[in-house]
Amino acid sequence: MRIDIVTIFPEFFGVLDVSLLGKARRERLLELGVHDLREWTHDRHRTVDDTPYGGGAGMVMKPEPWGEALDALLGQAPAAEGERADALVVFPTPAGVPFTQALARELASESHIVFACGRYEGIDARVADDAATRARVLEVSLGDYVLNGGEVAAMAMIEAIGRLVPGVVGNPESLVEESHEAGLLEHPSYTKPQVWRGREVPEVLRSGNHAAIAAWRHEQSLERTRRVRPDLLPAAAEPEPGTGRQHG
Ligand code: SAM
Repeated sequence: MRIDIVTIFPEFFGVLDVSLLGKARRERLLELGVHDLREWTHDRHRTVDDTPYGGGAGMVMKPEPWGEALDALLGQAPAAEGERADALVVFPTPAGVPFTQALARELASESHIVFACGRYEGIDARVADDAATRARVLEVSLGDYVLNGGEVAAMAMIEAIGRLVPGVVGNPESLVEESHEAGLLEHPSYTKPQVWRGREVPEVLRSGNHAAIAAWRHEQSLERTRRVRPDLLPAAAEPEPGTGRQHG
């Protein structure tokens, strides 16, 4: 998979050299390109923003450098009519569709994603329309809050997507058992020592009884999800009233 990032703060992305994603880059499972938007400006001040049409506080990112940046990364030719464009351009924005584990999984099968990181009040809206003539475009929100820029959002998405690319995480089974994969939050986890500061690891986990362990973990997942994220439950695993059975 190739990921390109366009930003006015390329230095934000130095952390992508460490840990699992850094290793994935070195092993060429992930190709990452970080590009400074100001490379596509032509004035002495390398200007990327201007005042908003219609008035209001703050500045808006100018379309010209963005247009040139995306031309360079996507190629200028529009995809043939009805043909699926190879590249996907993701615009992180609080006004986008929510980023979820399901979306991360979907995006992990893309071959080329370009992240366009906005700043100020965001990017001139024509940039996304123009990009849609030669790529697929998705506006994605990290959550219901406002960040200063798209960099942290892009980084979070790249980490969530990158770890789902085959080979990036050593043991693929560890990915399947996680929170949000089966619709429930994950059960609590423990390691050695058996007793720490007077707190003992639950006996069932030391029993060697795999069926009992699985049942305990499922019950813990349900309990935690009910307590913390009851909104996740209807589609996942609420007992059917009166039957004690689970959905799906
Ligand atoms: N005026 C915009 C609005 O109200 O929708 C917010 C602009 S925000 C200060 C600047 C940039 O940060 C956005 O263009 C976007 O790239 C990024 N950003 C802020 N919050 C975000 C979120 N929750 N998810 C994804 N990107 C976000």
